[in-house]
Amino acid sequence: MQAYTPGEQPRGGELIKLNTNENPFPPPPAVVKAICDAASGPLNRYPNPMAQSFRVAAAEALGLPGPEWILAGNGSDEILTILVRGFVGEGECLRLPHPSYILYRTLADIQGAKWEQVSFETDWSLPAAFSQSDEKLRLVLLPNPNSPSGTTIAPSEVERIANSLDCPLVVDEAYVDFANDNCVDLVKRNERVLVTRTLSKSYALAGIRFGYLVAQPHVIAELAKIKDSYNCDMISIAAATAAVQSKDWLAGIRTTMNATRERMSLRLSQLGFHVTPSQANFVWCQHPDGNHQAIYEHCKAGGYLIRYMTYHGYGDGLRISVGTDDQVDACLQLIQQWLQAQ
Ligand SMILES: *Cc1c(COP(=O)(O)O)cnc(C)c1O
Repeated sequence: MQAYTPGEQPRGGELIKLNTNENPFPPPPAVVKAICDAASGPLNRYPNPMAQSFRVAAAEALGLPGPEWILAGNGSDEILTILVRGFVGEGECLRLPHPSYILYRTLADIQGAKWEQVSFETDWSLPAAFSQSDEKLRLVLLPNPNSPSGTTIAPSEVERIANSLDCPLVVDEAYVDFANDNCVDLVKRNERVLVTRTLSKSYALAGIRFGYLVAQPHVIAELAKIKDSYNCDMISIAAATAAVQSKDWLAGIRTTMNATRERMSLRLSQLGFHVTPSQANFVWCQHPDGNHQAIYEHCKAGGYLIRYMTYHGYGDGLRISVGTDDQVDACLQLIQQWLQAQ
């Protein structure tokens, strides 16, 4: 099978990373303290198999009836693995939009399952084909906000899609803390809506590996049967529990990063890019006569790593993560320099 290739993770730290949508800021101070406390705890013992302390804190933070609505995982990528393992058997099919998160395809390949891509419309809405049920279709996955576009599908539309399918709909909310809406309330009234979240982006904890699923309790109970017994370790459970309790910290990060995103979007459009309005911590942009690959190379040579992407049917473009104001300014400076030299 073809391997999934994650974004470049250069060693050494001489490049500023604006390529994999990590958070440029340190995580909440309460998280660092929780990690230190956990490190002097009983590490000779196995952790709680369901990460119960996290589930209680997350249910409280999300306004859910109780911890039985949450399944914790080793990153949301593991949650996605559990979902595909649980719902999509050999020879069956999952559906994803295009262009979006291609890890889903790898997860189908691992199961010996098929995947089907439905292309977004040019305005980043979804065509009717995305909501059509099909005999072999077992799971539909929708990143919301989507990557690379940063665009969203409104919860009312998500609900309409869920209701017209015969199988569960996974709403991958990796970037939702930067967006205006989320789909957690849909989970409460529709057993077929499954929401995944990660601490990697908004909580600045990509190095910790923690994600979770929000679903109705009977769905969580079935999926818990097929996870590794101890899929989350004591240190990351402690970190994640402290993270979801850091509401004020999160609100501050959201305000700061969304302001930088808007400034970056405006500046890119002034430089002649077509910028897709983003509700995530990155921006997708395309220059009408820019050579995107050359701009990427120029930024890299100047010490800034951004993401050059090319998608069948959509052409190529640049996905730039929201960094600190200084990082973004320096990167924009490099891009401007390249454009002016043409
Ligand atoms: C980053 C990302 C994830 C992965 O999150 P982890 O918790 O780090 O595994 C999942 N889905 C999408 C769409 C992402 O961009």
